[in-house]
Amino acid sequence: MSEQFDVVVIGGGPGGYVAAIRAAQLGLKTACVDAFIGKDGKPALGGTCLNIGCIPSKALLDSSRQFHNLTHTFKDHGISADNAKIDVAAMIARKDKIVKQFTGGINVLFKGIKGNAVTPIAGFATLKPGKVISIKGHDGNVAEITAKHVILAAGSAPIELPFAKFDNKLILDNAGALDIGSTPKRLGVIGSGVIGLELGSVWRRLGAEVTILEALPDFLAAADADIAKAAAREFKKQGLDIKLGAKVSKAEIKGQEVHVTYADATGEQTLVVDKLLVSVGRKAATAGLLAEGTGVTLDERGRVVVDEHCATGAEGIWAIGDCVRGPMLAHKASEEGIAVAELIAGLPGHVNLDTVPWVIYTEPEIAWVGKTEKECKDAGIPYKVGTFPFAAVGRAVAMNETAGLVKVIAHAETDRILGLHMCGANVSEMVHEGVVAMEFNGSAEDLARICHAHPTLSEAVHEAALAVDKRAIHKAN
Ligand code: NAD
Repeated sequence: MSEQFDVVVIGGGPGGYVAAIRAAQLGLKTACVDAFIGKDGKPALGGTCLNIGCIPSKALLDSSRQFHNLTHTFKDHGISADNAKIDVAAMIARKDKIVKQFTGGINVLFKGIKGNAVTPIAGFATLKPGKVISIKGHDGNVAEITAKHVILAAGSAPIELPFAKFDNKLILDNAGALDIGSTPKRLGVIGSGVIGLELGSVWRRLGAEVTILEALPDFLAAADADIAKAAAREFKKQGLDIKLGAKVSKAEIKGQEVHVTYADATGEQTLVVDKLLVSVGRKAATAGLLAEGTGVTLDERGRVVVDEHCATGAEGIWAIGDCVRGPMLAHKASEEGIAVAELIAGLPGHVNLDTVPWVIYTEPEIAWVGKTEKECKDAGIPYKVGTFPFAAVGRAVAMNETAGLVKVIAHAETDRILGLHMCGANVSEMVHEGVVAMEFNGSAEDLARICHAHPTLSEAVHEAALAVDKRAIHKAN
């Protein structure tokens, strides 16, 4: 007789492990199955986010930012340091330690739920009809468990270009780019999306010549155009060479180099690099997840089809996070995990995809929530805009962090906030003001009438909200 659980979560990333904890908190007998093997060869919970994504990249972004400040910006403060060096091996070891602390921490969280621990199971799970979950362990043995409810949280994997196969020595995916042993002289990046910009920034700050090849003619097309423009200006100053409208057709390994062929408006070009990062998006990791006859369907992009409550249509089977529609963001996955666990327990559960914040952890950071100006225009929504530059914010000037701006977009008639967009220092923390305001159906006037502490970077949000009605105090309207 196979063991029966109330809830089996397939995937232990920020969607899956959070869903499992919430289900166990609600008194449901819960297991969480995950196949990931960490750098030490042992099973590791936490998925892409904790092992090879959000957390390790932020560790490297911070190390490289400190080094860059030491070698470039501290002199403005009167601080000088001769012969500053970066020990890349020590930087990577610090990153690995942080990863281990957090992935190990999930096991502790699983045990620590009052009266009801989550059972972690290491291995690759396949869902069979009748909510039977077959698990192939890392020793090759296969075991079966059953569940009243199954939550599919299988996550995503990097898209591979057919002409640039990952070997994680010279041609790297996101995981490979987090583990380069020494700073490459020349780093090529295909795709100027979130991963390309973040990891390109890490190695640029450590001294690599970084060239980013982006197929689209517009830079950061998902972001608001004013924000993308301000960010592009800063990245250019930092020496990130971003080539737009560059269509890559070939990547050949020749000795210890990669020769990349691409075409731009002027014709065919070759870029020779020491390492090539391919960051052209991710795909749902649903290969091998479903046996025949489960009643769960995949769409044309291999994502599990779900309704607005993450239900698959097959009774008792749910799916969340990167393996379903919506943005591939850890926090969106976690919120869906909580909502589904609560729905299973008979509580209300819902995620508002319209107020999921986006953050790109470059320097300056980029963050937004809601619609861009272009999205408003395309949808025919009448809108008004207020902007405010960090260069006019006292705290930003005191911090030497004057790049970027805040932009508030509000409905032209109702004044309801449609979007809050930012580029600047610490905007990853400030964007939540917009999330809260939008969740409460706030107006630009609401933000404008709220007292903001002085001197803070958040005053830029206040002033941008005032600027919607052309009454910003510290700039001409
Ligand atoms: P992305 O979708 O952010 O960007 C991919 C870029 O590659 C796009 O600009 C696209 O136009 C370009 N591209 C695609 N094919 C190309 C080609 N053949 N040649 C040149 N350019 C090409 O994808 P990503 O950066 O790989 O990130 C994957 C996912 O991970 C994203 O959904 C992202 O949201 C998520 N992620 C988020 C964060 C964060 O929230 N800070 C960090 C890392 C990753």
